[in-house]
Amino acid sequence: MEFQNSLAFARQLDSDDPMRKYRDQFHLPLQKNGSPFIYLSGNSLGLQPKSTKQYIEQEIIDWKNMGVEGHFHAKNPWLPYHEFLTKAMANVVGAKPEEVVVMNTLTVNLHLMMVSFYRPKGQRNKIVIESDAFPSDKYAAESQIKFHGLDPKECLIELVPREGEVCLRHEDIKQTIEQNGDQIALVMLGNTNYYTGQYFDMKSITEWAHASGAFVGFDCAHGAGNIPLELHDSACDFAVWCNYKYLNSGPGGLGGVYVHERHHDDKDIPRFEGWWGHNKSTRFKMRDAFDPIPTTEAWQLSNPPIMAMAAVFSSLKIFEEAGIYNLRKKAIRLTGFLEFLVTSLGDDVVNIVTPSDPNQRGSQLSIQVKNADRKLFDAVTSRGVIADWREPDVIRVAPVALYNSYEDVYSFYEVLSEAVDG
Ligand SMILES: *Cc1c(COP(=O)(O)O)cnc(C)c1O
Repeated sequence: MEFQNSLAFARQLDSDDPMRKYRDQFHLPLQKNGSPFIYLSGNSLGLQPKSTKQYIEQEIIDWKNMGVEGHFHAKNPWLPYHEFLTKAMANVVGAKPEEVVVMNTLTVNLHLMMVSFYRPKGQRNKIVIESDAFPSDKYAAESQIKFHGLDPKECLIELVPREGEVCLRHEDIKQTIEQNGDQIALVMLGNTNYYTGQYFDMKSITEWAHASGAFVGFDCAHGAGNIPLELHDSACDFAVWCNYKYLNSGPGGLGGVYVHERHHDDKDIPRFEGWWGHNKSTRFKMRDAFDPIPTTEAWQLSNPPIMAMAAVFSSLKIFEEAGIYNLRKKAIRLTGFLEFLVTSLGDDVVNIVTPSDPNQRGSQLSIQVKNADRKLFDAVTSRGVIADWREPDVIRVAPVALYNSYEDVYSFYEVLSEAVDG
C-alpha cells in the first residue's frame, strides 16, 4: 500500500480499520492533562483489558462464597481452570491444544524445558544461543550447563551478527548449526529478538537443528500474540513465552509452554514433576506413582494461581474474537506506516535496526537515532509517548494491532521529529 505522510491519511486508515473497535476494550494510561499517552510499549507490558477486572472479581467472589468448594462449584471451577485457556492459547501460537499449557512464568518454564531438552551427552553438550539473547535466557542456559557439571565457556555457542550488522543472517545460523552439528545438544533462540525485533524462520531453523541431531526450542516472549507462530508446523520441540507483553495478562502474569506432541508419550523423558502433571483421574488418591498426563500438561507442577489465570482468560477471549491472523494483517500495515514515516526523517537522522522485510519482524521497530543520547528519549517521553530506550541510542516502539491506532503512529512520528530537531 502507498502511504501518505499526513494526519488526515492516518485518520483515514483508522476509519477503514476493521480492528479499530478493540482499542475501546483497553484502558489507555492517561497523562496528567487527562489525555491518553501514546502507548507504544505493548512489547514490554501490554495494556489492561477493561474486562480483566470482572474476570478476577469473579474468582474473588467465588472464593469468598465457597471456600474450597470453588474448586468444583465456582462459575469457572478452579480444578480444570487452566483448561479453559488452552484452546484459545493454542490458536494464538498455532499449536494443537494438547501441545499447550498456561503455567508458571517464562524463565521458570525455560528451565523446565531445558531439563527435558538439554541433555548433554559426551561431546554433544552445547547450546546454541544468540550473543545478545535476553539476559534471563542466557543466565538460564549458562546455569543449566553448570548444573550438568560443564563449563558455559565451552558449551555455549553464541550466534554473533556480522561485523557492522545488528541482525543475524539465517544463512549464518545454518552454517553455525552445520559446522558444530555433532556437538549441539540444543538450539535455543529468542523469537522475536527482544532488541532488534528480528523474527526468525522457526521452521528452517528447526530443520537444520534436527538434521544435526539437536533439539530446538524458542523463547517466544516477543512473538506470542504478535505474530502467528505456527509452532506445530514449525515442528520445534518446545517453546515458552510470557503472556504479559503482547498478550496483555498483567505484570508478572503467567507464561505459556508448548511441547510438540511427539514427546508426549515418552515416559522416560527427563522432567521435573509435580502432582498437577499427574493423571487427573487418580491425582487425588495421592499414593500412585507418577503417571504423566499424555499432553504438555504433564509438565505442570502445582495447582495454578487462579487470580493470575483469570487475567489470561480475559485477554484470550479478546484474541479469540479478533483472530491472530486479522491482527497480523493490521500489524503489518501499522508497522509499515510507522516505518514509512520514521524513514522520511532521513538516514542521517535515523536508522531502523529491525529488518524491513515484514516476514522478518512483528510489530516492533527498533529505531537508532544518530548522535542521540537519553535526553532525546526524555524529550519524547515528556511529549506524551511511552516507549522504551536501550543504551546507547535506540528507541524501541511497538504499535500493537489490538489497541494502537494509525493516529498514534502518526503522533509518535511528529513527536520524534520535533525531538530530533531539538
Ligand atoms: C520478557 C522476556 C523475558 C522475561 O522473563 P520472565 O521470566 O517473564 O521475567 C525473558 N526472555 C525474553 C526473551 C523476554 O523477552
